[in-house]
Amino acid sequence: TAPKPRYRKILLKMSGEVLMGDSLFGIDTATLDRVAADIKEVVDAGVELCLVVGGGNIFRGVSLAGRGMERASADYMGMLATVMNALALQGALEKAGVDTRVQSAIPMDAVCEPYIRRRALRHLEKGRVVIFAAGLGAPFFTTDTPAALRSAEMGCDALFKGTSVDGVYTADPKKDASARRYETLSYHDVLAQDLKVMDASAIALMRDNQIPIVVFSIREPGNFMKVLTGQGVFTTIN
Ligand code: UDP
Repeated sequence: TAPKPRYRKILLKMSGEVLMGDSLFGIDTATLDRVAADIKEVVDAGVELCLVVGGGNIFRGVSLAGRGMERASADYMGMLATVMNALALQGALEKAGVDTRVQSAIPMDAVCEPYIRRRALRHLEKGRVVIFAAGLGAPFFTTDTPAALRSAEMGCDALFKGTSVDGVYTADPKKDASARRYETLSYHDVLAQDLKVMDASAIALMRDNQIPIVVFSIREPGNFMKVLTGQGVFTTIN
C-alpha cells in the first residue's frame, strides 16, 4: 500500500519566486501547472490544504521603500501582488480539477471572497483548497507571518514551507560546499542563531502554538507528496 500522509490538515507557504520557474520575473505557466499537479496529488490523498503564496516574483515592498517610497504604500503594492499569484494558482488548480477559493485579507468583492475564518474552515471540510491572499492586510510584514497565523487559525497540524532548497543548511549550500542540512531544528535554534528560514515573528507564532514547520524543495515534481509521507529530504522545525 502507498505510504500515508503524516498530517491531516496543513498549510503550504510558497514564495512567489517558485512561480517564476526559470524566468526572471512574473509567472511561468508550465511551472504553475506543475505546482498545481503536485497540490492535486496531496488533496486527492484526503489532506485538507490551505495555501499562502508570496508576491516576490511581481513586487516586494522593500524594493521601492528603499528608493524613497513610503514603506506602507509599497507594502500594499506587495499585498496586491500576492492576490495576482493567488488568482493564477486558483486558475491552474481549477483547470486541474481541484475546487479552490481565494480569500483576501483586504476585501475585494468583485475578485474573491473576504477572509472569514469560519467560512474558510467550512471550505476545507468540503475538500476545497483555500488560498489566503493579501497577507495580513497590514504593511511591515512579509507573507511568512500570515502563513503562520492562518495555519494556527485553521488548526493545521503543520506548516509546509516550499522553497528552492531542500531544507535548512548550516550555510548557503549554493555558496559553501561543506554546508550540511539539518534533519531537525528547534524553534529556539532558529531564533537564537537567526537562521533565515522564515521571519522571526512567524517562527515565534509557530513555537507558541506548537505547530511544526517542514522546509522542503517544491522545485522537484512530486516532492510535496513525498515529503508529506515522510520520504525524501526535508528539515523539520519543532
Ligand atoms: N506584504 C505585506 N504584509 C503582509 C504580506 C505581504 O506588507 O501581510 C507585502 C510586502 O511588501 C512583501 C510583499 O507583500 O514584500 C510580497 O510578499 P513576500 O515578500 O512575502 O513574497 P515572497 O518573498 O514570499 O515571494
